Amino acid sequence: MNQPVVTIVVPCYNEEEVLGETTKQLTYLLEDLETEKWIHPQSRILFVDDGSKDGTWELIEKESLVNGFVTGLKLSRNAGHQNALLAGLMEAKEISDCVISIDADLQDDILVIRDFILKYKEGCEIVYGVRKKRDTDTFFKRVTANGFYGFMNKIGIDLIPNHADFRLMSKRALDELCRYEESNLFLRGIIPLIGMKTAKVYYDRKERLAGETKYPLKKMLAFAADGITSFSITPIRFVTVSGFMAVCLSMLTGAYTLVHKVMGNAAAGWSSLMISIWLIGGLQLMGIGVIGEYIGKIFTEVKRRPKYSIETSLNLNNVGNQPKE
Ligand code: UDP
Ligand code: MG
Repeated sequence: MNQPVVTIVVPCYNEEEVLGETTKQLTYLLEDLETEKWIHPQSRILFVDDGSKDGTWELIEKESLVNGFVTGLKLSRNAGHQNALLAGLMEAKEISDCVISIDADLQDDILVIRDFILKYKEGCEIVYGVRKKRDTDTFFKRVTANGFYGFMNKIGIDLIPNHADFRLMSKRALDELCRYEESNLFLRGIIPLIGMKTAKVYYDRKERLAGETKYPLKKMLAFAADGITSFSITPIRFVTVSGFMAVCLSMLTGAYTLVHKVMGNAAAGWSSLMISIWLIGGLQLMGIGVIGEYIGKIFTEVKRRPKYSIETSLNLNNVGNQPKE
């Protein structure tokens, strides 16, 4: 407990531009922590290459030959950030007392890792890194992120606002995470469900060190849709309620038209007819879409496909048997 074995898990997708600097800074940090006897000498960095198409894996290989802290895991294809992270966490938990996850672009302040470890030593099983503000984000990202967190909270999903995947988890918390067997693992929603003693550490998020975001709009939308449909049936309830209201409304309109007919002013409104057809048709389509979304979820859950497959690993099997230099 006093000198925990710490593994820092870093998912990487096409990150050759930042990886050199990231390795350097994380190595300095681990060296310092080790010299100060804060962490066990077996502590490591684990880079997970999420099927990169550039020279990311070659860089990790090269680093692992000269830097005793560097270990690597190569996924056989691009499995996505959450799955790459999960692959790293699952591997790391076997050789660590606690695992810290951080993005490769060093947007998160690595100096607060000290506070993470301090909180762990005080008995916390999960420590969340929370951004103080979002001023380094683009206006678009800020608005969409706020909207997303707000919506999730409204429909009863307890996310930690402004916390991404920068956190520490103890081996115990990770063992608990393994019990969530669903295929669509939305980590930011599931980890708070684990409970246990937790803490938050606040930090300022910087700009990306180099390269571009690996979360283009398409991936962001898919991520948000996954988050919502993995946790809540509120959208489907919303459709049911609006369907019910549409039916009530059409009955009222029907009655109104009937009264007019009886009274002899049967000027059948073509436009109102068209509007109702489009309205009802639209609602139905929307309903079918949301139902389809959930059926899709059931479909992927029952298949129980593995979430990722590991191609090779570096320096992982012999941890503990060899000196670092
Ligand atoms: N990432 C990944 N697989 C993907 C997309 C992203 O492993 O398919 C990694 C990426 O290399 C980075 C982290 O996930 O370490 C977060 O991505 P990014 O920094 O581009 O997201 P942003 O900070 O822009 O939201
Ligand atoms: Mg980033």
